[in-house]
Amino acid sequence: MSKRIFTLIELLVVIAIIAILASMMLPALQNARESARKIACLSNIKQLGTVFQLYQEDNQGFYIPHMSLNYDGSDTAWWPGLLMTNGYAKGAKFLFCPKNATNDMHGNLTHKAGLNLDKPTWSDWRYIDFGYNRNHIGSSKRYGVNSGSVGCLMYGSPAKNTMIKKPSKTIVAADTMHGVNTKRGWFQMNDVLPGSGAVNSIGPVATRHLGYANVLWADSHASSEKGTGNMSPGDELANMPNPYLVQPFNKISSNSIYDFWDRY
Ligand SMILES: [Zn+2]
Repeated sequence: MSKRIFTLIELLVVIAIIAILASMMLPALQNARESARKIACLSNIKQLGTVFQLYQEDNQGFYIPHMSLNYDGSDTAWWPGLLMTNGYAKGAKFLFCPKNATNDMHGNLTHKAGLNLDKPTWSDWRYIDFGYNRNHIGSSKRYGVNSGSVGCLMYGSPAKNTMIKKPSKTIVAADTMHGVNTKRGWFQMNDVLPGSGAVNSIGPVATRHLGYANVLWADSHASSEKGTGNMSPGDELANMPNPYLVQPFNKISSNSIYDFWDRY
């Protein structure tokens, strides 16, 4: 006498039902993981705000320059490296977005900087995941200063915090991508989509968190801001949504009180 409880058909039906239920759960689990990454990234960019504040307290209220020419007599110094080498933070981990954690540069740089073994080169420091509002905050590029007119600070002096008229509505830094390798971030951020349709390496805003980018504001608060679509690291450039079509990323008239990029 057979003691089999299920027939083979019944067993297959049960397995199929379990598979269907699991596939229904999967997107919810992925969303939960992405939300956790978005929150971890927000915490990182908030920490960057604290570090910027510390720098200002020691430097008469000036923001760190985005770039300093011939800092050590031989190379160009970028702001993330300047922060680290001047002791404003112990490790470099907060300069990265958890969504880009598989990026080789991410592992390489956090390992080197975190353990303080051999220091990253100045050029390594460009491949962090947060871009700095170079044109309005990290230099005076948008205020008529060009690269040839200053010796040490490319595009002139960074902003002083008392110059910023609307600190809670002025973007200082945000999630960015490198325009050629979309798995990487970039240390500078553009206030418009670079190029005409083609995205170049002057960091476009990256809406890598389910369509949101994390933003650091001049009053040191941080928030997640929705762009016009979700980009994923590694996507083709041609398929990237243009985040600059909606506030706060779009540039409106220079007379508007809602221009989120301008110093004044
Ligand atoms: Zn991020």
